[in-house]
Amino acid sequence: MAVLIDTDKCDGCQDCEAICPTGAIRVTGGKAVADPARCLCCGACVRECLAGALTLPKEDMGNGK
Ligand code: SF4
Ligand code: SF4
Repeated sequence: MAVLIDTDKCDGCQDCEAICPTGAIRVTGGKAVADPARCLCCGACVRECLAGALTLPKEDMGNGK
């Protein structure tokens, strides 16, 4: 699993890239792309994305909060 990206909303700001602890999300060609093999679905990038382009799969928004 990996964080879901709405590429229509993504403006390529790279804030998600900067916050991701595992390097699972990167901006390529002006849009964020997530690597399912690395993404922990921790939600850090979801909170960071001001454009609202990121959501976690299902409804569990991170573990423990
Ligand atoms: S933080 Fe949001 S708008 Fe910025 S690059 Fe990541 S997904 Fe796109
Ligand atoms: S949910 Fe966490 S691990 Fe996955 S891309 Fe976002 S910050 Fe990285």
